Amino acid sequence: MGKGHKDRIAVITGAAAGIGQAYAKRLAEDGAHIVLADIDDASDTLALVRAAGRDGLAVRCDVSNEDEVMHLAEQVKVRFGHCDILVNNAGIFPNQPFDSIDFAQWRRVMAINLDSMFLTAHAFVPGMRERHWGRIVNMASNTFSTPVTGYAHYIASKGGVIGLTRALASDLAADGITVNAIAPSLTRTVGTTITNPRSEERFARVSAHQAIPRIQVPDDLVGTLSFLTSDDAAFTTGQTLYVDGGWVRT
Ligand code: NAD
Repeated sequence: MGKGHKDRIAVITGAAAGIGQAYAKRLAEDGAHIVLADIDDASDTLALVRAAGRDGLAVRCDVSNEDEVMHLAEQVKVRFGHCDILVNNAGIFPNQPFDSIDFAQWRRVMAINLDSMFLTAHAFVPGMRERHWGRIVNMASNTFSTPVTGYAHYIASKGGVIGLTRALASDLAADGITVNAIAPSLTRTVGTTITNPRSEERFARVSAHQAIPRIQVPDDLVGTLSFLTSDDAAFTTGQTLYVDGGWVRT
């Protein structure tokens, strides 16, 4: 069991599938109770949380919508009283040449990938401050530091995520709240294989850049999340950890 996770309450956004689902399973195995926030049905993930012997709650929530995030916070309060761990994982990654991105598409990526993190932080930080303990982990991407094309809105949004992570680390440290980000390489998930597929050629090309030249999977990320949300990480804040098989060196 992860140090400091027992009976913590974790809210994970985008937890119906992909990396968010793997995160939910791991934090449940570490001993936390898990709130799954997603626009999609998260019952498969809920079953994994319960199979790990922990309590779970699935809430339909579009994290880019302020009212829905407030509703999520209310549901968390009613069911569990508070949130100790916030994992801002929900995100979209449309691949579009820059000239084809219209303003509405730009705004949608910013809203889901970055505005959402402002909204959830506003919703859950006050409770963390009251309890003088909190862990926030935001999903970034190694595309922020690599020369990929066709992701101007996505990479800009992830740059914002890294900036918000650094800023909140300063603003929240006095109340025992740490804020960090995780930046993966291209990872095999529902998003990259089904809803917004990347070709096998692309997976091979990307993984060849990594020191560890195999395709990343969600389980490659869960140990880092477990550490960053534990008591052991109390002195680690404002960091972006590239968990990407050693492509980006910081
Ligand atoms: P995914 O598409 O497999 O799953 C994302 C989940 O988020 C889905 O369940 C989806 O329903 C949910 N979601 C989408 N929009 C939402 C919204 N508005 N409100 C609530 N939920 C919403 O994605 P993934 O590959 O697991 O990626 C998860 C995170 O990791 C994202 O932030 C992504 O940018 C980041 N990331 C992924 C990769 C990769 O290659 N998969 C690489 C780097 C970073």
